[in-house]
Amino acid sequence: MAFDELNLQSDLLRAVEALGWKDPTPIQQQAIPLVLEGRDVLGAAQTGSGKTAAFALPILTHLAEDRRPGPRVLVLVPTRELAVQVTETFQSLAQFTSFKVSTIVGGVGYDQQRKAVSEGVDVVVATPGRLLDHLQSRAFTLARVDHLVLDEADRMLDMGFLPDIKSIIQRVPADRQTLLFSATLVPEVERIAAFALKDPIRIEVARPATVAEGISQVLYPVIQDQKTDLLITLLKNTEMRSVLVFTRTKHGADRLAQRLEKAGYPVEVLHSNRTQRERTEAMDNFKAGKSQILVATDIAARGIDVKDISHVINYDVPQHPEDYVHRVGRTARAYGVGDAITLMDPLEQVHVTDIERFTNLVFPRAVAPNFPYKIAPKLEAPKTSHKTAWDRVWSRGHTTASRRRR
Ligand code: AMP
Repeated sequence: MAFDELNLQSDLLRAVEALGWKDPTPIQQQAIPLVLEGRDVLGAAQTGSGKTAAFALPILTHLAEDRRPGPRVLVLVPTRELAVQVTETFQSLAQFTSFKVSTIVGGVGYDQQRKAVSEGVDVVVATPGRLLDHLQSRAFTLARVDHLVLDEADRMLDMGFLPDIKSIIQRVPADRQTLLFSATLVPEVERIAAFALKDPIRIEVARPATVAEGISQVLYPVIQDQKTDLLITLLKNTEMRSVLVFTRTKHGADRLAQRLEKAGYPVEVLHSNRTQRERTEAMDNFKAGKSQILVATDIAARGIDVKDISHVINYDVPQHPEDYVHRVGRTARAYGVGDAITLMDPLEQVHVTDIERFTNLVFPRAVAPNFPYKIAPKLEAPKTSHKTAWDRVWSRGHTTASRRRR
């Protein structure tokens, strides 16, 4: 199926062509006709699937067919970065129209946001907390909204936005079209769907636990103390155009960035303790290729959409398998090819087991040649008969970690 068979408005088709998109992705093929029909949609789709355009294109087509003052579209997203990403997608798709798009997120001035919306915008992309602040102070109203999108609903719920979301939905007219997208359709998401959507059609493009084809995934067992040295060795020996490195904590991100800088790599850091200006600058430098490496925490990395991320490195193994899938989804976006590398301390084996179960994969274990391992990495499950130093660390770690989890 081609874009021009989808009944999209002609200025939007021009934009799709200008962006160089050849064919609609599977989620776009499924969602666009339903949204054009006016149906509510409950979609299981991940970032990287093309889901933003899957809702933006038909919604903008509706707006173009029936022009009225706005804001007519409200898109709720979990993080500022995703808000910026979604705004940019709307803007590039609306480049040959006169539609205006505004972002409402925390960390920047209230006045400017209030002014932008009051002066007339068609689409508002917002994080729940800041939007609710504006609504409570009656800075503007959502009385003209007739399209509501809840994007990455699972993550918004994880972040505790449920009360804010409910409160916002109550301020949007009941006579509207509602679309909800979520990486996983967990029961909490189903509950918010039951509250917000009317007779929705469900669509699911990829099973929630799948990692896009074309990504090669590999695991390097190494003790925590040597992770930074190993990472630097891998950076030296592998051709990596642009690298996204995930750490578990903000502090860990800062510390790693300092070490990498000392080793001579231009690095950017993204986490929620940094100001909006710092985050924007970090993203811009990384996107422009000024810095080869971006070190980020999970929440900060939601929605990061950088073309050509060649490698995702899990400096720390994610504690939730869903996060692994999200992290790795940053590479090989829109079906390119990329690599995901995970550094695993013996203490983290338990999380790797969870991830392997969740994704139904067994990651190949790898050893960096000539790396001065303090403890020889174990490439298979530990055997009880002959214990090496690694086995001892391994089994100690394993029991501690499992006990902590229970
Ligand atoms: P999303 O899942 O909305 O974050 O989109 C993932 C990436 O795919 C973005 O960089 C989009 O610009 C890109 N994209 C979306 N739809 C298409 C398409 N039909 N063809 C090529 N690239 C696309």
